[in-house]
Amino acid sequence: MVDRDASRRDVSRMDQTSSPVSHKPAPARPTLERWLTGPRFPGLPNRGPEHAAPLLSFEFFPPRTEALEAQLWACIRRLETVAPRFVSVTYGAGGSTQARTHATVARIVRETRLTPAAHLTCVGATRDEVDEVARTYWQVGVRHVVALRGDVPGGGGYVPHPGGYAYASDLVAGLRRVADFEITVAAYPDVHPAAASAPADLDNLKRKLDAGATRAITNFFFDTSTYLRFLDRALAAGITASIVPGIMPVTNFVQMRKFAAANGIEVPDWLGHLFDGLEEDAETRKLVAAVVAAEQVRLLQANGVDEFHFYTLNRADLTYAIAHILGVRPVA
Ligand SMILES: Cc1cc2nc3c(=O)[nH]c(=O)nc-3n(C[C@H](O)[C@H](O)[C@H](O)COP(=O)(O)OP(=O)(O)OC[C@H]3O[C@@H](n4cnc5c(N)ncnc54)[C@H](O)[C@@H]3O)c2cc1C
Repeated sequence: MVDRDASRRDVSRMDQTSSPVSHKPAPARPTLERWLTGPRFPGLPNRGPEHAAPLLSFEFFPPRTEALEAQLWACIRRLETVAPRFVSVTYGAGGSTQARTHATVARIVRETRLTPAAHLTCVGATRDEVDEVARTYWQVGVRHVVALRGDVPGGGGYVPHPGGYAYASDLVAGLRRVADFEITVAAYPDVHPAAASAPADLDNLKRKLDAGATRAITNFFFDTSTYLRFLDRALAAGITASIVPGIMPVTNFVQMRKFAAANGIEVPDWLGHLFDGLEEDAETRKLVAAVVAAEQVRLLQANGVDEFHFYTLNRADLTYAIAHILGVRPVA
């Protein structure tokens, strides 16, 4: 057995004898000393079989072409095996995917064991039109809506539709009048770019929950401490509903960075360094993305987080692998 203390003493003696007084910059510490005295990663909890696997949900977008439809359904079939508590389908900017979102959630109800959540936005539609979309969701068996304000298609400042729901909190209240939906809303650890301030954004989240939503899903983030601090601030503001972290496995760093910039999401330098030089190497990017997302979820899990929402981008492989790392296994 190695006597680490003895070795450390030897190393420090070696340092004293081999380091004459000098004004030159100190040389790099010898490898052995670094190895013996350097920082260690704190151990992640050993989650044995007695621990319940975390609750997962997956987000898809409605496909535009037959080829993309086939890709989406391959993804749905693979992820269905790990029994997520729900899967959500986005609603394109300004309602541009209304028919495709509807067709996708309706098919999920008809052909799978999954529970779909349909996204719905306020942008560019009257209250009656939005209520009608919600009613058609209900009629095909959808009982869960992700209620959002949405953004102006093509960018630009948001102006509420004159006869529409102005903000997501208004939409939540409207949906409560349409039917007894379960309602999820959006949250922003990095603060929504149009918010007057971080506290104002948190007030808005509280308004959405007070209006009848029961859970929030966050926009993606990379600095885990940003999310954990956001949870602290939410708790201090009296928010007790779960705020599920949105996890984005980054397969296209360049595209993600543009989206992040437009949405006020901080992209840490270390992430840029990890993808540096991989612009033409999709295969290595995918491996790096898996490591980054796996580290992120493990760190969150070590901090007690046991619910995760994945932005799948209609591809199953990374999400499936990360779910596996989290301890999720296929259900018969
Ligand atoms: C999990 C998730 C899923 C998403 N899915 C979709 C999707 O399917 N389709 C889509 O188009 N977009 C989607 N988005 C993007 C979302 O539509 C945008 O981020 C949008 O800019 C804000 O939507 P929200 O529901 O958070 O808006 P809100 O909660 O209404 O907030 C929007 C902004 O207005 C401020 N605000 C709220 N109320 C007031 C008020 N009364 N007075 C002044 N300011 C106010 C808020 O602080 C915030 O800055 C999604 C985002 C997330 C995080």
